[in-house]
Order: sequence, then C-alpha cells, then structure tokens
Amino acid sequence: MDNQKILQEVKQSFMLKRVRALDENEAFIQAMCQNDEFNKLYTAYNSKNLAYLRSKFAGENSALKSEVENLKAQLEAFLEKNNIDKSNLQPKYECPICNDTGIVNGKMCNCLLSALNSKKSILMSGKSKFKSFADCDDSIMTEQDFKTRDLLKTWCEKYPNGTKININILGASGAGKTFLLECMANALMAAGHNICFKTAFELNELARQYHIGKSYDFSNCLQAEVLFIDDLGSEPMLKNVTKEYLYNLINTRQSNHLPTVISTNLDLNNLLDRYDERIFSRLVNKRLSININLTSPDKRLS
Ligand SMILES: [Zn+2]
Repeated sequence: MDNQKILQEVKQSFMLKRVRALDENEAFIQAMCQNDEFNKLYTAYNSKNLAYLRSKFAGENSALKSEVENLKAQLEAFLEKNNIDKSNLQPKYECPICNDTGIVNGKMCNCLLSALNSKKSILMSGKSKFKSFADCDDSIMTEQDFKTRDLLKTWCEKYPNGTKININILGASGAGKTFLLECMANALMAAGHNICFKTAFELNELARQYHIGKSYDFSNCLQAEVLFIDDLGSEPMLKNVTKEYLYNLINTRQSNHLPTVISTNLDLNNLLDRYDERIFSRLVNKRLSININLTSPDKRLS
C-alpha cells in the first residue's frame, strides 16, 4: 500500500472519531434538553455562541464573548448541581490539540503522525490485514473461548473507559494468542484508535540496535494508545537490553495509563523468573491487569 493510500485510510478513521465524539455530545445535549431549565439555558447559550462565532470574522467582540462565557458557566453550574459531569457539554475529542482533525496550524498533528506510524507498523509486520473478531471460527471454539472472545471484544468496545490497562494472554503455542491480539488491534483501529503491534522478538531487536547506537524512534511504542507485544518470552535475553527496555516501556506506559496487551507461552511463574519482580509486578497487577489462560488444544491442528 502506498503512503498516499495509508494517509487516506488514517484520515478516514479520524473523521469517524470526530463524528463519534460529535454524535455522543449531541445525544447528551438532547437528553439534557428534556429538562426545561437546561433547555432554556442551552438555547440561549447556543444562539449567543453562534452569533459570537459569526462576529469573529469581523474582529473580536468582547461583550458577546463574555455573555457566552457567562451562559456556559451557568450551564456548568447546573450540571454540577445535578452531579453530572460538566465535561460532557463539549464533544470529547481524543486529541485536545487538533480536536481529532489531525491538522494543527496547517501541519499534521502528532496524533496523526503516530496513527500513521501504527498503520505502517502493521504493514511492515508483513501482514496486510489483521484478523478480526468476525473471523473467529465458532465450530472449533470451546465455552472458554467464547468467554475470552467476549471479554476482549467488550474491552475494546469500552476502550478507553475501562479500569484494566494490562491484558496478559497466556497459553501454549497454537492456542490462538496471536489471533486474539490481532482481533483486538483490528477492533481498536476500526474505532479510530492508534495502536502499535510488535512481536517481542522485533522489540528486542530494535532495543538492541538502539543500544548499540543505531537510532530508532520508540515514541510510537511509548505513546500509542494500546501497545501489543506478541509472544513475550520468545526473544533472546540480552544483557542490559531486554529487561531494561521492557521495563522502561511498560513502566512509562503504565504511568501514563496507557494499556499494554501481551501474549506469552510462559505461565506466571516463568514470567516472574525470566523478567524479575519489577517487570512482573507491573504486568501482573490485581488492580490493573486481566490474565487470561488459554487452555484450549492447538487450534492450528484442528
Ligand atoms: Zn491531534
């Protein structure tokens, strides 16, 4: 896929994000307007705000501006009095810098650049397309598989409004771990989220190269909304590299409340043995983590 096509697809997903935020905002306002007091205030605010926005073409109108601000403050006070989150008054864009337009001052916003990177990283992973939840083959799924799928699907649908930010998918080769990671990545991307998908082997190799002075930009791994690390434990353990980079990555992401989803052949004990307490306690944490044990037989053989 050429760069132009990638940009086009990413821009389209941004447009969807914006539409979703605007729709949610409109639904909120409509529901609130059932209340007469709110409705009256909001109607006044809306018409003054429109008048103010129009007047801006002819220069700043400070009297109108303060009227708008005053009405907005009254609306916020009304919501606060009724224990309703006042931030709902405005559309909730993911990027406060560009309001999810991807453009700021005529240039690409960082959020658009990192979304482009994540799209490219998929293409570079050699997969033209990730699997999706719709690709699940019901005929070979156990009851546990259905539960796992529904849990992960719901997590993606709720994102970013969940409390758990680490998902560890454990299980033997062929249990369907990579498949599930791809399904999640796919669902999140379709909803316009920016993800980064790497195998542990790739990540380790990038860290090694960086360690010996070759430049690599880790910002996408650090800042992507959701980072996927496939097959943790399959990478060679390099002194001063593997644990250090992994710790940094996971710790930084956790501090910024950014989810990391891993798959691994290791069980929890082996994970602790291999990566030590610091990493383990960040990955496996009662308050923040979901651990999924896939015990199904090898799907690739069935
Ligand atoms: Zn932005």
